[in-house]
Amino acid sequence: MSISGRHFLQIPGPTNVPDRILRAMDRPVVDHRGPEFAELTKEILPLLKEVFGTHEGTVVIYPSSGTGAWEAALVNVLSPGERILAFNYGHFSELFARTARNLGYDVEEVPLRWGQELPAEEVEAHLRADDGENPYAAVLVVHNETSTGVTSDVGAIRDAIDAAGHDALLIVDTVSSLASIEVKHDEWRADVTLTGSQKGLMLPPGLALLCVSPRALERGTEGGAPRNFFDWRPIIRDNEAGFFPYTPATLLLFGLREALKMLVEEEGLSNVYARHRSLAEGVRAAVEAWGLRNLCEKPEFYSNTLTAVVVPEGADSDEVIRVARERFGLALGVGLSRIKGRVFRIGHLGALNELEVLGTLGGVEMALIESGVPVELGSGVRAAQQLFTRKPTEVAGDQ
Ligand code: PLP
Repeated sequence: MSISGRHFLQIPGPTNVPDRILRAMDRPVVDHRGPEFAELTKEILPLLKEVFGTHEGTVVIYPSSGTGAWEAALVNVLSPGERILAFNYGHFSELFARTARNLGYDVEEVPLRWGQELPAEEVEAHLRADDGENPYAAVLVVHNETSTGVTSDVGAIRDAIDAAGHDALLIVDTVSSLASIEVKHDEWRADVTLTGSQKGLMLPPGLALLCVSPRALERGTEGGAPRNFFDWRPIIRDNEAGFFPYTPATLLLFGLREALKMLVEEEGLSNVYARHRSLAEGVRAAVEAWGLRNLCEKPEFYSNTLTAVVVPEGADSDEVIRVARERFGLALGVGLSRIKGRVFRIGHLGALNELEVLGTLGGVEMALIESGVPVELGSGVRAAQQLFTRKPTEVAGDQ
């Protein structure tokens, strides 16, 4: 039976695409070698630089997904056989390391707990222990682990690399943070910061976006791996005039321009980050009111784009997700790989407001109850309302 009304897509990406962006893409396809398209490219690239937090960096766009962004980042700056330091603290950091291994790099993958952040001290200790024989050429970092709801402190990791006196490249995955949690490519002195279109940028899947430092550009000129489609050199060259060396995803780029207008020019990036923080606090208040555990171990690393909620012993998070989808038309994120069945994830990023969060939390509460997880009906919604109401009134019995 289909459920009427708007589907609640509350997975941590792909996120809801605002009607304005859908309309911006709903147009005749243009000549990608014509002047209108060149103008579009020239408008988009400087706005994207603001979102990446860069003056010095160069932005490169590919028709691809986040997985393609990983590959693009690696093959442009690293030669096969070079050593990479990676950490496994969730599904996506694991896949990033696997991608590097599959491409022929020598990856040291340090296991961490799923639910912890990437500790800067760990990075420093491994770099200090590098004997320099085949030194680490790069460190891979996932800023926001979408499988666990943990945001690591990339600034502290940068400091740790400096403290170790190591010159490894810093490659940062911001797939589920960019345009929702502040990304500081220049301040972090990141060499490549990468993302996809389908999360904070409020677009459908289909674009991979990279921000590249001058140092990484240089590496790409001298070295890197054999590459063709992902070679950023011809793209950067043709972008000067607003073009691409292949057929770009023209309509997605019209959508991207609209998204950037909304984020950078209208709402303003600092307001976008503040909105995500506030919505996330509402969700976390609900999880606490339900008496459930956030998979993220330490509050200072709680993600502002998603929350991974651990279900009680004996419960099955897949069942909660099934009930939410089938009964209420609410899509929640599953527990990935080794945490399958143990957590469900509430996405709270992209085009989202307080009432939509309350609707989501109401749906989660009902799904929990219907799948046998005892929570107090209304408790989570009320906790979030208390936070969202500027002058919250005392509710009887609520201290
Ligand atoms: N990195 C992170 C942090 C992600 O969350 C994802 C996907 O969700 C990816 C990489 C892979 O991106 P894609 O699925 O677009 O290939």
